[in-house]
Amino acid sequence: MKKTITKIKIGQAGAVSIEIPVLKFTGSKRGKKALIVCGIHGDEYTGLLVINNVLEKIKDIQGELWIIPSANALAQALNIRINPLDLYDLNRKFPGDKTKEPTDRIAAEIFEIAKDMDAVLDFHTFEDPTVVTNIFMNCGSNETKKKTLEFIKLFDPDIVWELNIKSRDELKFVTALGPKLSFEGIPNIAVELPQLHNVSDEQIERAVDGTIKILNNLKITNVSHAKESRELLFVENKEFNSNVSGIFVTHKKLMDKIKKGEVVGGVIDITSFKKTQIKSHESGVLMVLKDRQFVTTGGRLFTVGKLKRK
Ligand SMILES: [Zn+2]
Repeated sequence: MKKTITKIKIGQAGAVSIEIPVLKFTGSKRGKKALIVCGIHGDEYTGLLVINNVLEKIKDIQGELWIIPSANALAQALNIRINPLDLYDLNRKFPGDKTKEPTDRIAAEIFEIAKDMDAVLDFHTFEDPTVVTNIFMNCGSNETKKKTLEFIKLFDPDIVWELNIKSRDELKFVTALGPKLSFEGIPNIAVELPQLHNVSDEQIERAVDGTIKILNNLKITNVSHAKESRELLFVENKEFNSNVSGIFVTHKKLMDKIKKGEVVGGVIDITSFKKTQIKSHESGVLMVLKDRQFVTTGGRLFTVGKLKRK
């Protein structure tokens, strides 16, 4: 296989050139094309480790494997979510516009590459400790949805967060890369992992294995993988925000089943050291849990994945 690295020039900020590096692996035989994107949000690095471990397993490919490791290069360099030049969130800018601000231009360049693919994997992280999550966009044609679900099944996440982009809360995701690709008929998954300092070896392995299984399915790779997939668990995302401030402590663990009204933990007020019991607002499984962290009023304590269907 041939490896090429190109840099897409987006523009210029004073003396600093804004570029996106693109890695492309081309097999000796023609075949399907897949794209892996990381760093759409600059402070999310876990996908880079996954990509590295995937590449270590690949000796040869058929077709093309494209990798964009630093979609939002300036944000990534500064370890911040959004583009510091125009303060836009890249994942709210697709399909982009090559005549507008830097973030629009980046979105347009990435989208141009992505809409020519047979599959797109987009790696993200949650700020707080979390389970391996795939986001199912649930939009586009039935054929696109079917192929996307096949990829999700292969990826083997702990849970599948099913978006409902018709709802007011989740309407903001319409301009994310995933839904826009789904409407273009490109099967794609967004992966949410814990941040580098929170992610476990098992979670990294599962993400590597899942990526390989998808690439194998596309016949781009032919690499053996460790595990078969389990049943998928589809959930709605229900965040719990605190009405009090202090240190949140809990004896619960991620993936624990929780009932509405059940005590999840307590918030210790740091002026009186009085503990306020925190009861869950929903029944489901704990998909994000902020154990032993300081929270301000309105801060997220945990997220319950409300079960939708098998
Ligand atoms: Zn993200």
